Amino acid sequence: MASSTGKTLVLVVTGTSGAGKGTLEKILLERMSEEVALAVSATTRERRPGEQDGREYWFITPEKFEGLVEDGEFLEYVDLPWGARSGTLRSEIDRIKAQGKVPLLDLETDGALRVQRTIPGAVTIFVDAPTFAELERRLRERATESSGEIQVRLDLARKQQTLKDRFDYAIVNDDVERAAQELTEIVRRELQTAGTMTRP
Ligand code: 5GP
Repeated sequence: MASSTGKTLVLVVTGTSGAGKGTLEKILLERMSEEVALAVSATTRERRPGEQDGREYWFITPEKFEGLVEDGEFLEYVDLPWGARSGTLRSEIDRIKAQGKVPLLDLETDGALRVQRTIPGAVTIFVDAPTFAELERRLRERATESSGEIQVRLDLARKQQTLKDRFDYAIVNDDVERAAQELTEIVRRELQTAGTMTRP
C-alpha cells in the first residue's frame, strides 16, 4: 500500500533461525488480520509437520523454483547453506496490496538487507533469542532438522547476530506474549506513520 509519503510500506521480520519469529508473526497476523498479511514465500525445503502448502510456504520442487528465478518472478531469493532455496514472489506482494493490506515478509538477514536496499518504505525488524544457548535449545527441541543441519543453522545464526544493528528495530523473544506485544506496537505505529491505518 502506498503511504502518505508515497513509499510502499512493507514489513520485514528477520532474525536468527529458531528465534521464534514465526510464532510472533502468527500472533501479529491474527491481531492485525485486517491490515497486514503474510507474503507466502516459495521454498524447496521439506514441509514440517503442521505446515500447510500456501499458508507457511508454497512448497515447490527445485526445478519449479529455478523456472521462477529464470522468469524473474522473485522480488528476492536466497540459497540457504543447508541446500534449500526460498524466495519472495512478486505476485504475493501484488496480491496483498490489491487487498489494501501491508505485506509482511519473513526473511533471513541477507534477504532483509536486499529488501531494505530496494524498497524505500521497508520497515525491518530483527528478532533474536535471549541467549545463544537458548537459541540452540529451541532448535534442538524443534527437532525438525538433522543434527548436521542444526549445526549449520547455529553457525549461520552467529553471523546473522552481527548484523542486528543494521535493522530498524530489534526485539528479544524472551517471552512470547511480551515480544508479540512489542512487535504489534511497532507495526501499529509504523502503519499510523505511513497513514495506512484504517482504525485507531
Ligand atoms: P525455515 O526453513 O526455518 O522456515 O527458514 C529458514 C530461514 O529462511 C528463515 O530465517 C526464514 O526467515 C528465511 N526465509 C524464508 N523465506 C524466505 C524468503 O522468501 N527469502 C529469504 N531471503 N529468506 C527466507
